[in-house]
Amino acid sequence: MRFLPVFLDLQAGAVLVVGAGEQVRAKLRLLAAAGARVRWHATDGNHDLGGLRASDAARIELAGDDPLRADLGGVIAILCAGAGDVGIAMSVRARAVGLPVNVMDDLSHSTFIFPAIVDRGDVVVAVGTGGASPVVARRVRERIEAMLPARIGELANFIGGFRKSIHLRIPEFALRRRFWERIVDGPIGALVMAGRKEEAEQALREIADPAGFAAANDRGAAVGRVTLVGAGPGDPDLLTVKALRALQDADVIFYDELVSPEILERARRDASLVPVGRRVGKPGIGQHAINTLLIEAARSGQRVVRLKGGDAFVFGRGGEEVEALRRAGIAHAVVPGITAGIGAAAQFEVPLTYRREALRITFLTAHKAKDAEAVDWSTLTDTKMTVVVYMGMTAAPSVRAGLLAAGRSPQTPVGVFARVTRPDAQAAVGTLEQLPDLVQRIDGGPAILIIGDVVAHSAPWRQSKLTRVLSDLLEAAE
Ligand code: SAH
Repeated sequence: MRFLPVFLDLQAGAVLVVGAGEQVRAKLRLLAAAGARVRWHATDGNHDLGGLRASDAARIELAGDDPLRADLGGVIAILCAGAGDVGIAMSVRARAVGLPVNVMDDLSHSTFIFPAIVDRGDVVVAVGTGGASPVVARRVRERIEAMLPARIGELANFIGGFRKSIHLRIPEFALRRRFWERIVDGPIGALVMAGRKEEAEQALREIADPAGFAAANDRGAAVGRVTLVGAGPGDPDLLTVKALRALQDADVIFYDELVSPEILERARRDASLVPVGRRVGKPGIGQHAINTLLIEAARSGQRVVRLKGGDAFVFGRGGEEVEALRRAGIAHAVVPGITAGIGAAAQFEVPLTYRREALRITFLTAHKAKDAEAVDWSTLTDTKMTVVVYMGMTAAPSVRAGLLAAGRSPQTPVGVFARVTRPDAQAAVGTLEQLPDLVQRIDGGPAILIIGDVVAHSAPWRQSKLTRVLSDLLEAAE
C-alpha cells in the first residue's frame, strides 16, 4: 500500500484549486458538494462555474492572482487539474512547504490522490487503487454502494448523538463497546435503519441500566426482530437489494412453498431454513402456528426473516403476521417484493395499463370456485380495466362464467402465465371464451391470469398471431 487513506477535515481550512477545463470543474463540483471551502485559480482566466448550484458556488472564492506567488495561509490541500506546467510548479511549491498536493493524472507530482467515494452522510467509504485504475476503483465502489444500506449514515449519526451520555454512564471501554454492538445489531439499530429514528431514540432513552444491558448474556436478554421479505416471483435476480441484505443477515428464515430454491441459495450460509408453506391439497402448519414460530424465534434473540413469494401484502397474509408481531411487541419491518402479476407482465410484455385502452388494474383472488362465486363480477366489466387473477387456475371456468354473465365480451384477450420469471415459464393466450382450454395447456402452476385488451399487446399474443398468419399463408399456397 503506497497511499494510506485518511480523512481530511474540510472545516480546518481552504482547498486551493489550480487549473482549467472540464477536469477542474468536476473537482470543483466534488469539493463544493462535500462542503469544502475552495479558492480557485483559473489558469486560463475563465472562472465560469458551469451550472454549479448557487449555495455550492458561494463556497468557491475566485482568485485572480498568480497561484505560484499566492498566500498559502489557511490552505489545507492543493489540487491541480488541467493546469499544465503551472500544476507541476505548484506541486514543487506545495511540497517545499509540506502541504498535501494532487496533480490530476500525475502520480509522480502528487502526494495524495482522490479515492472513489461511497457517501452515506457520516459513513464514508474510500476506495483506492494506488492511482493505478480509477475504473477498477469505480467498480469496487458500485459493489459497496449496492451492499451498504442507505441509512447506515443515519445510524452513525444517531449513535453520535448519544455517545457522550453513554460514555458517562459506562466508563469502561470494553463494556461500552459491547453496549453499542448490541444497539447496532438489535431492534434499536433496526428502527433507525427503517427510518423510525424517534422511536429508536425513545427506546434507547428507556434503557434504565445501560451497563446491565451491555453485560446481559447474549441470548437471554437479547430481543430479535422479524423482517417480512417479498421474494418476488422466482428469479433470484429480482430480489430487491434490501431483501438480499435481509437474507444475508438472517439467523433463521421461515419460507413458503412458492419461494424458489435459487432464492434460498442467496441466504446466509449458516442460517436455518424452515419451510412453513402449504402445498396445493396439503395443509400447511396454519397461520396461527406460523405467527407463534416467528414470535418465539424473535424472542430468543434471533434475526428472523419471513420469506414469501411475490409480495407479502399481495395475497400473502403479511397483514395477519404484522398484526401478530405488533401485538407481541416484536420489532419488525416489511420489505416489498415483485408480485407475480407484475413479474408476468414484465416477462411477457403485457402493459397492464395502456393509454386509452386500460386505465385501471384490479388484482383479485379466485382460489376456489366458491371464491369465484363470491366475486362481484359486475364491478369488473369496464373494458378499460385489466384484471389480474391470483390462484385462478382451478376456478378458471367460474372466472369465465362470472365475467361473461356480467357482460364482458367473450372476445376479451386473456393470458395464462405460469411459473413466471423462472427458467420453465410458460404462457397461453387466447380469448375469455377459451380461458378453461388455455389453462389446460399449462403444465402446472403457479399461474396467474391476466384479462383485458392489453393482453393483445403481449409478446405471446403477437407470436400466436404471426403463427396463425403464417399457417393461413401456407394453407393458401398449398
Ligand atoms: N404473494 C404472492 C401471491 C401469493 S398467492 C405474490 O405477490 O405474487 C399465490 C398465487 O400467486 C398463485 O396461485 C399464482 O396465481 C400466483 N403466483 C405466485 N408466483 C407465481 C409465479 N412465479 N408465476 C405465476 N403465478 C404466480
